[in-house]
Amino acid sequence: MLDSLFHRAEYIIRLDDASHFSNFEKWNKIERILDKYNIKPIVAVIPENMDNSISYSKYNPDFWKTVYQWQEKGWNIAMHGYRHIFHFIDRNELIFPFYNRSEFAGLKLNEQRLKIKKSNQIFLKNRINPKIWISPGHCMDNITLEAIKLETEIKIISDGISFYPYSFRGLHFIPQQLWKLKKKFFGIWTICLHPDTMSESEIKEFDKSLSLFVKKNDFLDLNNIDFTVRTKSFFDKLFNLFFWIKYEIKVLFGHNIK
Ligand SMILES: [Zn+2]
Repeated sequence: MLDSLFHRAEYIIRLDDASHFSNFEKWNKIERILDKYNIKPIVAVIPENMDNSISYSKYNPDFWKTVYQWQEKGWNIAMHGYRHIFHFIDRNELIFPFYNRSEFAGLKLNEQRLKIKKSNQIFLKNRINPKIWISPGHCMDNITLEAIKLETEIKIISDGISFYPYSFRGLHFIPQQLWKLKKKFFGIWTICLHPDTMSESEIKEFDKSLSLFVKKNDFLDLNNIDFTVRTKSFFDKLFNLFFWIKYEIKVLFGHNIK
């Protein structure tokens, strides 16, 4: 346990909400930057986006061609739910209680299975093999995990608050704890970005900050992660506890959980 604390920090980039309605001008800019540094991100792909709040362009008929090209160059394609539409759910019933909403949690096993089955079919039809699950809005319950295991080949979930990946209910969780690049001294850190909503200056800033991290070879190839079964350490649990205490304080001061 202690040697992992002295292991230098490594990072994974995650790009969220790729769909037929993404702003591909921005996505192309991010892609060129990642290519320049040879970074292979995780991409959260929505197979049938019906969420108007994340529609940034008209329907792109070539969307799956692009996803296929990402897959071919070694990017890690993740299933980001099915339609990205939410129902109300008490967040205390979720594994990660970020919001009072979910596309899956709270539904019966057969209902969750059906959505995941339909999503998986779309990926397979388009020659995409999703290896990772990313819940829309982080929102899932234990039944979602069962449905993923029953309907897909997915073994990895990108989510959770921990310093290092851990196992839970027969799945491997790669934690996602950051929303911008930050210097850390140990641990494996996933930085979640939404290319569609990044401003020009944020994209430039991202490019600049990446160059500093890349020099030290700080980005992790997902294929090199050790996925032996590992429970959370005492330090992972402490980090998790403090993260959620901080989050609850933010909620008390008006942070939006809808
Ligand atoms: Zn999303």
